[in-house]
Amino acid sequence: MAVSRNALHIALMPGDGIGTEVTEVCVGVLEPLARRHGLGLSFETLRAGAFAYRDTGTAMDEATFARAEKADAILLGAMGWPGIRYPDGTEIAPQLDLRFRLGLYAGLRPIRALPGVPLALADPRAAQIDLVILRESTEGLFAARGRGEIIDDREARDTMVITRATTERLSEFAFNLARRRAARRGRPGVVTLVDKANVFTGFAFMRRVFDEVAQRHPDLVASHHYIDAMALDLIRRPWDFDVLPTENMFGDILSDLGAGLVGGMGFAPSADIGDNHAVFQPSHGTAPDIAGKGLANPTAMLLSAALMLDWLGERGGGQAWSDAAAELEGAVDAAFAGGLRTPDIGGKAGTVETGRAVIDKIGASR
Ligand code: ATP
Ligand code: MG
Repeated sequence: MAVSRNALHIALMPGDGIGTEVTEVCVGVLEPLARRHGLGLSFETLRAGAFAYRDTGTAMDEATFARAEKADAILLGAMGWPGIRYPDGTEIAPQLDLRFRLGLYAGLRPIRALPGVPLALADPRAAQIDLVILRESTEGLFAARGRGEIIDDREARDTMVITRATTERLSEFAFNLARRRAARRGRPGVVTLVDKANVFTGFAFMRRVFDEVAQRHPDLVASHHYIDAMALDLIRRPWDFDVLPTENMFGDILSDLGAGLVGGMGFAPSADIGDNHAVFQPSHGTAPDIAGKGLANPTAMLLSAALMLDWLGERGGGQAWSDAAAELEGAVDAAFAGGLRTPDIGGKAGTVETGRAVIDKIGASR
């Protein structure tokens, strides 16, 4: 077993609501996993979110941001709370500030059917669902975020921004990701850009830049799909898709649709990745309806942590990190295959019990 040379430092931002509950369980799983693989892993807990705002007047202060920026990776629970808002009425969402300030353009949202988890589709092929939505996360329709324009009392406008630089980076990311997945899955990688190039100039431009980047990756299949057709086909034949880069807003919507295919928000991990930083967090929010009850499904958080270990490995941490990532995913799969059922899929296993079931499978799978 390879022992990595340096300890890597993780900024933990549990946030609010079930964010804090799933983060605690996640650390409880990562610690024995790190010991087993000889990974040097240290954690620093940072406070940010809606309750931080309520108590201190700042959702994420500059010192906290600076600590997060220095860390090797950021592992985030979820942030926001009903009734706690900025004076202008917008939601408390420092995770969006991290995304913009750290330039995390690639929003990775893997959608994968876990063994034993009930799926929305009855077709047996649904068990093969294994795709990644790659949501551009810094521009598109979110570029105007909070800065739209109310022209007069009868009209408001938000501007969509598509830049060549970001589209190139996102497309490169998509092809490189597809290549890694192809090697792992033993089948050709297919990258499908999801757009609306038949109507919008910005999407026609995005498609042109994507096609240019595709030329540099002749070993992979590049294709396009309109967003409306993709909404249909993600229900009709989601097992046919591989890597789906798309604009910010489209990615936001498709991610929730994708999560719905494989058991719901409790099973949807995510990573927001830039050139130098990355934030890993479940796709779900703080779920005030179940917060404080120990019912939250920590699977999305655990799978996000697996994405983090894999990213750290790829960025020079070494093979031990990638092995640990694969083992964590395998342990989650094995736990559900072995009958684990969380309340969101009709079972009884709470947050802590689910964490324990996964720890039990670490080491058992090999
Ligand atoms: P956000 O605005 O941050 O996206 P949201 O309003 O979309 O948040 P979520 O917090 O994601 O809402 O929750 C949506 C629903 O899914 C809630 O009813 C919640 O109970 C359920 N849910 C979300 N995450 C989990 C989880 N990890 N385990 C169980 N149920 C969850
Ligand atoms: Mg949501």
